[in-house]
This record gives sequence, structure tokens and C-alpha cells, in this order.
Amino acid sequence: MRFTKMTASIGPSCEDKKTLTEMIKSGVNVCRLNFSHDTGDVQGAKIDLIRKISYELNTPVAIMIDIQGPKHRIGDFETEKHYPLKIGQKFTLDSDSTPGNEHRVHLPDMDVMHSLSVGDRILLNDGKIELHVDGVFDDKIETTVVRGNEIWSRRGFNLPDTDVDTDILTAKDKSDLEYAITKNPDFVALSFVQRGEDIANVRDFINERTSKPIKIIAKIERPNAVDRIVDIATAADGIMIARGDLAVEVPFETVPAISRKIIRVCRKLNRPVIMATQMLSSMVHSEFPTRAEISDVANAAYLRTDSTMTSEETTIGDNPLNVIQTMDKILSFADTDAIENPFDWLRVDNVPENDWSRSVSSMAHLNNAVAIVVFARDTDIATQIACRRPDIPIVAVCSDEMVANQLCLLRGVFPICNSALFGQRDAFGAIHQFGIGIGKLVIVDEDKISLRTLD
Ligand code: PEP
Repeated sequence: MRFTKMTASIGPSCEDKKTLTEMIKSGVNVCRLNFSHDTGDVQGAKIDLIRKISYELNTPVAIMIDIQGPKHRIGDFETEKHYPLKIGQKFTLDSDSTPGNEHRVHLPDMDVMHSLSVGDRILLNDGKIELHVDGVFDDKIETTVVRGNEIWSRRGFNLPDTDVDTDILTAKDKSDLEYAITKNPDFVALSFVQRGEDIANVRDFINERTSKPIKIIAKIERPNAVDRIVDIATAADGIMIARGDLAVEVPFETVPAISRKIIRVCRKLNRPVIMATQMLSSMVHSEFPTRAEISDVANAAYLRTDSTMTSEETTIGDNPLNVIQTMDKILSFADTDAIENPFDWLRVDNVPENDWSRSVSSMAHLNNAVAIVVFARDTDIATQIACRRPDIPIVAVCSDEMVANQLCLLRGVFPICNSALFGQRDAFGAIHQFGIGIGKLVIVDEDKISLRTLD
């Protein structure tokens, strides 16, 4: 039984019905649609297809819309060629929209211009170019090249030292989100979150347009977001450790420690956490993962992450189904091993001993229960119990499809959506579909907790 969930990014290699169906049958729990690439009806058609497959397989699958956010880019150069840079040379970013050359380029984003300070770093092209800010003026930023030997049009850049005073949603994001909301996604993932307030603003945007409780996942990819992780995790419904941009903005050797810290915070605050990026990236072309990738995926399970995530290996890879089956195999083994060799899962999060969700987990553990059954009116109770990381499955019997889909992201939660079973004794028999044998069950129905023997 696999406790760690799998989030798969969906792209050209896997958006046909046959491949998607096989991937979901092989255990994909959440499908991520990245609006940095396709938008509008193209993404809408994928959402419809995933819903159809989920219905046909009678398997809940969550849909996560990933919103691009304020990804900053420099302007165009006079030609498409690469312009040489020399370490120590001066380079200017300015408000002049004419094409750039080896001395200067347009900086289209005025919010960035006004947020930079002398001494800040500007990292272009995934950190391959580093500029040091020497002077900040109304119409230009003067810099010195610290790293890099060439620059060309429309390179993206990161600002690890700067609190950018900008709206979390760009005009493109607003239009993407407006459209996505009409398709009732289960989750919206937000890129380049900097503070809890960013989440509150997006929640207002969503709530003004729908009464559906769409959940917001904050992508942590900036140092200031790491510093404010408690504030952000409190405001959000879940966290994605977006290691791609994160490893550009913080010293890469700190990413594992930051990941552990984020997982701890999320467990304490009852928020699901996704470990993302380059988990099996060699499998874009290779049939087998590298040894290091096997360890990375397994360690996500040992750290009790809620979900791993695939990126290019499923969006543009040669064999996305093989990627999912490989990830499933690694996680299933590591999860079983983690259950057989538990660390002190009850004490690890400093959750008070009288916390009710901790009591449910302890009760299950002390009674050798085979499962915890939650009648889930919403996601709260199952989420809180899941964040205590009990070593037995949590079967969530739901009457609402969105609740079942959203619980797909939670470690060790196995949702069943069936309104006929909701609150009924018959529901207990349904747990056998997950391969759970006979034995004791801890039943949680709102504030009532009881123990039953299933025979
Ligand atoms: C990341 O940077 O790790 C990430 C998941 O974000 P994106 O794929 O949107 O760049």
C-alpha cells in the first residue's frame, strides 16, 4: 500500500486519453496543469479529459492548476544572437524599450526597478548570469557582471535579495485564473509567493468568483518565502517545495535542510506538502532512474512528505507511464519500510499530547487498528489526522466529490466518494477495496471517536 501520493505534471507526452488513463490506473493522485505553458480552452480540454477518466475508473483524482505568477524577464536585444559579457564589466537595465546590446537592455517591469537596492543580486538564466546592483535610479539600474559570459533576449531572472513590491497575480494570471475557476479545479498552485498576504489576496479573487472551496497551494521558491514559511503555510491550504527556482535563489546546498524545515512546519500546521522538481528527470530520455534519483524519491517518503511530483519527465518525457510506475515502485517500498521501522512519529511535530488528532492516531496505534475511517464532510478532520502521520491507512468516506479529490493529496488518506455509504455501517466493508484486512477500526464521525472490530 502506497501512502505517499504522486502528483504528475501533465504535458504533450501524456495528454492523450490512453496514456493518462494508464497513468491514473498506475497511481497518479493529482494532475498538475501548468499555465506557464498552455492556457484557456487547451487546458480546459485537459481538465475535462481527466474528469472523464476519473469518472470512468471510479477513482478520485485531483486537478491542480499552476499559475505562472510574476516571473520576471528582461527585454529583447537588437538581434537574436547571444551578446558576450565579461566579468567585471558594467551592464545597465533601463526603462528604454528600444532593443538591447552588450551594454544595456530594457527592464519591462517597473515594480522590479523600484524594489531593487544597491548590493542586491540579479540572477539571470537560472543563475548562470549574476549581476551585482551598483546604482538604482528612476529610469535605470546600473550593475556589474559577477558571473556569466553571454546574454540574450527575454532571459528570466530571479531576485534572491529583493522583496518585490508587486501584485502576486499578473494580468495574465488573472485571466488564467478567471478561466480556470470556471472549470472547478481542486487546487490552485501559486508561483513566487512572498508573504501570507499574497495568499489572502488570491483567496479573495477566487471567493469573489465562486463559492467552491478551491484550495490554494503556495509554491516556496524564494528566500523571503522560506523566512515567512509559518505565515505563508498558515494562510495557504498546502505547500509545494518548488526546488527548481528555490535552488537558484538560495545556496543549493541548503535546499535539503529547507525542505525538512518546511515539512516539519506543514505537519505542525496541518498542511499537505509536495516535494517537487527533478525527482526523476533523467527519465525524460532514460528507461531507468539514476541511483541518486531513487534515493531522492525514497527520502521524500521517509521524510513523510504528502506527495512527490513529476515535471518534465512526464510532460515531455519519452515514456511518462514508465516514470509513474517507477515512482510508484520506489515509494511503495519506502513507505512499507518506513511503517515497519517507524521513527517517533507521535512526538516529532511537538503537537500537544491532548491534541485530538494525535489522540486518534495514538488510539489506532495502541489498539493495533488496521485503519482509521473518517466520515469526511469536508477535508479538515482527515487532513489533521493525516498530518499526525499514523502508520495505518485513513479511509475517508465522502459524499462530496471535491472533498474526495482534495483528500487525494494527503499522505495515507484513501478517499471513497459515495453518498449512499456516507455515515453508514456498510461503509466499513468498502475499505476492503484498498486491501485492508479484518481487524479493529477507529471510526471518526465529527467529534465522535469509536473503536469497532471489522470481521
Ligand atoms: C519549481 O521551480 O520547482 C517549480 C515547480 O515551478 P515551475 O515548474 O512552475 O517553474
